[in-house]
Amino acid sequence: MKLYDIAIIGAGAAGLSAAAVAVRQNKSVLILDMGDRPARKVLASGGGKCNITNTAASADRYFGNNKNFVRGALSRVTPYDILQWCESHKLNLYEKTPGRYFCADGAAAVVDALLSDAQMASFVYKTNVLSLTKSNDLFIISTDNGNYNAKSVIIATGGISFGTLGVSDAGYKIAKSFGHQIIPVRPALCAIKTKRFDSELSGISIPVEIHVDNESINDDMLFTHFGIGGPAVYQATVRDISAGIMINMCPGKDIVKILKQAKQTNGRNLISTVLAQHLPMRLVRFIIGDKNRNIADFRDTKIKDIASQIQACTIECSDIVLYNMNSAEIVRGGVSTDKISSKTMESLLCPGLFFAGEVIDVAGDLGGFNLHWAWASGRVAGQNA
Ligand SMILES: Cc1cc2nc3c(=O)[nH]c(=O)nc-3n(C[C@H](O)[C@H](O)[C@H](O)COP(=O)(O)OP(=O)(O)OC[C@H]3O[C@@H](n4cnc5c(N)ncnc54)[C@H](O)[C@@H]3O)c2cc1C
Repeated sequence: MKLYDIAIIGAGAAGLSAAAVAVRQNKSVLILDMGDRPARKVLASGGGKCNITNTAASADRYFGNNKNFVRGALSRVTPYDILQWCESHKLNLYEKTPGRYFCADGAAAVVDALLSDAQMASFVYKTNVLSLTKSNDLFIISTDNGNYNAKSVIIATGGISFGTLGVSDAGYKIAKSFGHQIIPVRPALCAIKTKRFDSELSGISIPVEIHVDNESINDDMLFTHFGIGGPAVYQATVRDISAGIMINMCPGKDIVKILKQAKQTNGRNLISTVLAQHLPMRLVRFIIGDKNRNIADFRDTKIKDIASQIQACTIECSDIVLYNMNSAEIVRGGVSTDKISSKTMESLLCPGLFFAGEVIDVAGDLGGFNLHWAWASGRVAGQNA
């Protein structure tokens, strides 16, 4: 049986990045993947346009038990390194918002570029890795397609969200078998199912400010038939929601002031007419309910009450269901960073065993941060394996 220098489990974003670096160092590299083709999540990323990186990538855009863990890889592989790599492959990029890069040629072009860098590696598809053992300094990788041997192994099996793209928990199981702790996984970058709103609001999109875990997120929110989604909500779900979230549905405005002014100048206006200048009428009707009277009829305390429903709309944690593992872009949780070197991505419990990408307890914000983490941690693991 051939003995490889490095076996990489998972031909996703992290695994392919690791392979590219490793083959450049003249290592013999084996990549095993359960799918029939590589990088299925990259192909689906950014709506097919792959939000490849973000120049704002820094520790504060990553979440996990140790927020500082990402610093090592991010300092070694910066967004500018990724932009340079894109340039070297003649990938045409565009900035959707400042610093947030997408590939105009499509995600498939990104995968082609990754594959061309890793072409000296041996690819084995449709092979499900089941377990990993180490004996006499050699790793034995057991699959449903026979066993493979390698001197080093990189676990790049990704997260378990978006199951239709083919996912497994093998990375967690293998890590556990070597003594690593697994931080329980949950959906992130996903919608929220809540009873707070009515399904009749479905389809309305408004700019909001969401307060969560001492941060404010300014972006769009979409009402759905089961709750809320859209980029602002996605960003909220990657953060700590245990204290609930608070939504300002009219950011940058003072609804109390607006209503009091309207009461003084146009008291015979219906309150819904006044509010509809600032919010969609369907949402206004939901907030006002059957209390749609002249604004002059509203006492200041009631005005404050209505304003707080709009500008300090609270959803308790008990009313938040992260919706759901099948449609979440990523997971929070994974292999604990406690026993992984942030400089090399090597296990501190088993020399020669490395981790890269989403399988680790590192979750990035919306905006290209997760792929950036996969590129960065993958390259670092490939360099050191
Ligand atoms: C719909 C969608 C859109 C996204 N868009 C973006 C975006 O635009 N920008 C961004 O930054 N992030 C985006 N993400 C997140 C990003 O795609 C992931 O964080 C990233 O792909 C993780 O890379 P990875 O290499 O760690 O894992 P993956 O890319 O998931 O690769 C893991 C690989 O391991 C293989 N594997 C798993 N288990 C086994 C096993 N037992 N045996 C063999 N092989 C196995 C899988 O088949 C897979 O190929 C998106 C995610 C989704 C679902």
